[in-house]
Amino acid sequence: MTEKNTAHISTQLIHHGYTPPPDFQAPQPGIFKASTVFFPNVAAMRQRDWKDKSAYTYGTHGTPSSFTLEERLCSLEGGKHCVLTPSGLMALAVASFAVLKSGDHILLPDNSYGPNKVLAEGELTSFGISHAYYDAMDPQDLAAKIQPNTRLVWLEAPGSVSMEFPDLIGLIKVCQSRGVLTALDNTWGAGIAFKPFDLLGDGSLSVDLTAHALTKYPSGGGDVLMGSVMTCNDELALKLKMTMSRLGVCVGPNDIESILRSLPTISLRYAAQDHSARELAQWWKGQKACVQVLHPAVEGSPGHGHWQALCAPQGVTGHAAGLFSVMLHPSLKQDQVDSFCDSLSLFKLGYSWGGPSSLVVPYNIASMRSNWPSQLQQGYLVRFSTGFEDPQDLILDLTKAVKQCLNF
Ligand SMILES: *Cc1c(COP(=O)(O)O)cnc(C)c1O
Repeated sequence: MTEKNTAHISTQLIHHGYTPPPDFQAPQPGIFKASTVFFPNVAAMRQRDWKDKSAYTYGTHGTPSSFTLEERLCSLEGGKHCVLTPSGLMALAVASFAVLKSGDHILLPDNSYGPNKVLAEGELTSFGISHAYYDAMDPQDLAAKIQPNTRLVWLEAPGSVSMEFPDLIGLIKVCQSRGVLTALDNTWGAGIAFKPFDLLGDGSLSVDLTAHALTKYPSGGGDVLMGSVMTCNDELALKLKMTMSRLGVCVGPNDIESILRSLPTISLRYAAQDHSARELAQWWKGQKACVQVLHPAVEGSPGHGHWQALCAPQGVTGHAAGLFSVMLHPSLKQDQVDSFCDSLSLFKLGYSWGGPSSLVVPYNIASMRSNWPSQLQQGYLVRFSTGFEDPQDLILDLTKAVKQCLNF
């Protein structure tokens, strides 16, 4: 017979004797929430190391939930070590903070994700880290801009908004021949379009770091913000973990749960949104109001050959994200372009992508680049991302809005 528990009910409820049987199996892994982690004794408290994932010490240093998501993302992108950040932008920041010090110089593609440039112009500059922009479509321009103190080169394939696909392999080779670290913003490729840690398929060429906005495809819901930084290099992994730890960067378990729930369907969702985007891009090709379709998988789009070599070898359909832009005729007026965007009903006005709703954003390219990119026609750029609506319904929506607003 068990002894009567005489402790106060509060004490009993906190120090309860029941533990559920351990062998529970279900489609989704359990979610573990903790700031405090218990140790069985003082010796364990002194010895445990979180950095190699052999044990738990504190919530910011990892839980079974964060370790599980990190490992699954490594499988997706082909990396060995992964850390999770509260947004995609924070992933870019952590990657830069982990490897840069005062006096270093970094290079960013002129067509990179805008906030990464803003970070270089802001915090990095104030920490004594200088930067310059290179033309992502010209590996020789990159080579010419590498200085003795250039420590890191950011890469993006394709470029944000204008969607030119660079010679990624050529750019990485330039960096490697000069002993400069490479970090790829892999949000577009998402680990599906190409393998950033094995670009040639024979283990001979890899980027050093990837950053990924999990906010986009891994989430797929338009409702979670998260990022990851990944590497195959043990030394860089330790730098990343120490930077994360010193800054206190970590993510909440409920957000991890959302990503873990979405991850099994990522390749199906990516393919569906890819399919819709290509249908829409082809439709735009036949429109008088459109002077250029910017979609790496569409023939004639800047860098199409580079996309084909990396993402669609041997003439297969290949992979591309559900994202493209169109350049609208320069003889239109900005008001007409704005009204066109406003009059769409299935495409919502909003940033980000990878969620259920199709989205549209008009961009002012001239304000985003050092020079008007030579590969772009003059005009008004509008970017689309496809959700999960039926592509024929989306085309109908576009048809109506073009007829109503883009006559000239
Ligand atoms: C969205 C995005 C990011 C930033 O992700 P957030 O989670 O929104 O901070 C970074 N890079 C690229 C290419 C993106 O599209």
